[in-house]
Amino acid sequence: MIKIENVRKSFGGKEVLKNISMTVPTGTVTVILGPSGSGKTTFLRTLNFLGRADSGTITFNDNSVDLHNASPKEIIQVRRSTAMVFQMYNLFSNMTALGNVMEGLVTIRKKKKREARDIAMKCLYEVGMETYSDYYPVQLSGGQQQRVGIARALAMNPQIILFDEPTSALDPELVGEVLAVIRKIARELKVTMIIVTHEIAFAKEIADQVVFMEGGNVIEKGTAEDVLIHPHELRTQQFLTRYL
Ligand code: ATP
Repeated sequence: MIKIENVRKSFGGKEVLKNISMTVPTGTVTVILGPSGSGKTTFLRTLNFLGRADSGTITFNDNSVDLHNASPKEIIQVRRSTAMVFQMYNLFSNMTALGNVMEGLVTIRKKKKREARDIAMKCLYEVGMETYSDYYPVQLSGGQQQRVGIARALAMNPQIILFDEPTSALDPELVGEVLAVIRKIARELKVTMIIVTHEIAFAKEIADQVVFMEGGNVIEKGTAEDVLIHPHELRTQQFLTRYL
């Protein structure tokens, strides 16, 4: 279980995260929804120290790390436990799909090339990209690049994968294939995930927990049915009306 407590963050006096807490049970999917500017990306970034929170903790099983005052060793530990899938894939353009997935295994995990290759090929297979292993990013569609990005995250075998709007940079016809891959790894591999997305139908289908954020606060959280079908809060209702 991953417990995130009391995360706060300001930029230049503007409080962007006011006091965010949530618990993500192992093997489950939490979807974060909310209007633009509500703090969703900032929140994800604090969880693996891409941005530094002003306060808050993240606890993996019984191991708590202060999101503000962590030691370099603790930061490495948290980064080893989390992987991030970005909106814009962020693949290395001078490396093939296979090279991109192998890179972290070799440089960070210190795996031998042969073992890294085996793990990377298995992960490319999980996202349906094994036949494209020799392709460079420029030769792949956005959806295919994002599937390689997901394979790269899987390869690190993290305790949790954080998805930051994984389909929002894609042409509409490519969204489905990426959502299908996320759905597959959630169901078949039981990967623990937090997904920031605007895809409400997808959230309804995949989420064990939905968190609705606005203005740096968690307004409402619960099962997909609670939050998306029978929301209690007016602001959640208004948001859903706008998006559905
Ligand atoms: P979107 O759905 O549009 O991606 P979001 O919910 O992910 O939005 P954030 O990107 O987390 O929202 O931004 C929350 C607020 O924090 C915004 O007002 C944004 O302008 C501000 N913000 C984010 N990063 C910085 C930064 N590095 N410096 C100053 N302000 C920032």
